[in-house]
Amino acid sequence: MGLVTSLHRLAQRSRNYARCVRREGTDPNQVRMEDVLCDFCHTPWTLERPMVEGHHGSCICGNCLRAAWALTVTSQASDRPDGVPTKCTMCLEERTDRTFQSPAFAEACICLRCVRLATRAVARDEDGTPNDE
Ligand SMILES: [Zn+2]
Ligand SMILES: [Zn+2]
Repeated sequence: MGLVTSLHRLAQRSRNYARCVRREGTDPNQVRMEDVLCDFCHTPWTLERPMVEGHHGSCICGNCLRAAWALTVTSQASDRPDGVPTKCTMCLEERTDRTFQSPAFAEACICLRCVRLATRAVARDEDGTPNDE
């Protein structure tokens, strides 16, 4: 049950992200893009770099996401031994599926499920189907 909820919530957040990215010149009182850092490489968010937000403001940038995809999906490998629960930085759950760990910041991990969700969110954004309601 809780699993479904957080999956849903992550997807929802990703949708919000996609909307933010298209809106340039946002309200200066809001959090500024450069204040948002990728948890995996600590690079600030820019318009050229897609960023996907997880729970509690955790974020992964497009570059790190690509690296995570290459490991967990393309190579079907994991930075953690199979079956050892690892707390995912993005969904904050103890996950036992394949995990990508940031080479620079060991505390940052992303589970396979979040890699797939986040990649889908970025792909949807880059498809650029202009959908401004
Ligand atoms: Zn990054
Ligand atoms: Zn996760």
